[in-house]
Amino acid sequence: MSNYSPLAFVEKLSFVRYGGTPAEKKAADMILADVEAAGGKGELMPFQIAASTYTSHVTKVIAPYELEIATVPFGMCGNVPAPGKDLKFFYAEEGTPRDFLGKDDLSDTVVMVNAVTLDVYKELCKRNAAAIFAIMGKYYHNNDEAGMYSRNLRPKFLEQGVIPTFYINAHDATELVRNGAEMIHIELEQTDGEATSHDVISVIEGTEKPDEVIVLTGHFDSLPVGPGAWDNATGSAALMGLYHYFLENAPKRTLYFVWCGTEEQGLLGSKAFIEQHAELVEKNIKFCFNFDMCGTVLGPNNIMITGDKNLEDFVDAFCREVGYSAKTRVGVHSSDSAPFADKGIPGIGLSRGTKTSEIHTCRDTMFPLGEEALKANICFAAQMISRVANSVILPVDTGMPESIKKELDKYFQRTK
Ligand SMILES: [Zn+2]
Repeated sequence: MSNYSPLAFVEKLSFVRYGGTPAEKKAADMILADVEAAGGKGELMPFQIAASTYTSHVTKVIAPYELEIATVPFGMCGNVPAPGKDLKFFYAEEGTPRDFLGKDDLSDTVVMVNAVTLDVYKELCKRNAAAIFAIMGKYYHNNDEAGMYSRNLRPKFLEQGVIPTFYINAHDATELVRNGAEMIHIELEQTDGEATSHDVISVIEGTEKPDEVIVLTGHFDSLPVGPGAWDNATGSAALMGLYHYFLENAPKRTLYFVWCGTEEQGLLGSKAFIEQHAELVEKNIKFCFNFDMCGTVLGPNNIMITGDKNLEDFVDAFCREVGYSAKTRVGVHSSDSAPFADKGIPGIGLSRGTKTSEIHTCRDTMFPLGEEALKANICFAAQMISRVANSVILPVDTGMPESIKKELDKYFQRTK
């Protein structure tokens, strides 16, 4: 690892690389080239994802005044072909059943809500809403700063029905309500299709227990709104640092390094890996380390523990032993380790971060990041992974406690 600069890696990867686009493929090729330059071997694992090709849209107030609104349509949310529709406007705030009192049929209405969660979307489908405006950002953000992009409506939403949905920034949303907008004209043209995304995979064979596998995951894709330096070029860089380390320090158990594609569109890279490696997942993978965001100059360090009490005790004892300060939490990490946890594979998410930095916007840039902080995170991870990969008996058995199983059901939206 001597010559490896994680910060230089982060800088090289910090460009918009949205899942399923040529830019994401370019990032995958870069990572694979670095794997090979380090002296290892790797491969790209392709998988298909949903993608909309969006052509055009219009959203404008037509009564009692006229004003174009610069919304951003969701992907996969249907079409409103020209000449479009003239719809009533209704602001339903949080979108709870009480916010819809006396509004049982919204088939002639565009409904604006503070956010479109699955529960809100269900309420809107029940009432046949003609279209949705979902508010993004703060009142002082323009569309770029608010992080608005053509996000796909997720499959769980589409199961409920298809409603044309648009992001609107908080500034324009405020004006619509304050100025008493009554009627909105809407048009939308897009085509649903597919795109190819990739995981980058490399394996370091274990010297003593090659059939027992520890998977190391971190996503390398970004959203289309920014360079995704912290989220998650840093995690990708940490993975590469660990790759260098373990090439030189062969582990007793096998390590699978998986740089996941298209995490930002619903953990699609890790889900695809699991689908395409069913036997390995079922029989061999015993543990998952996930890396989503680290290396900020300002702390704290975070450790997400997905497993039982034994794993908590292990993390606590290990942090004491090496003198590492971190905030720990037990639960499901909203990242690529979650689909593994859902298969009963315990995991640890190592990260570093602070609310003074931003993700999922154009401001996720290099500034908050530092070489020393990145190296410290990688160094700790290398020690901890070594300990697990070389242990005589693993610190935790596979399987999940009931409390985490419940959390997984909720996270994957299987309840209600
Ligand atoms: Zn991330």
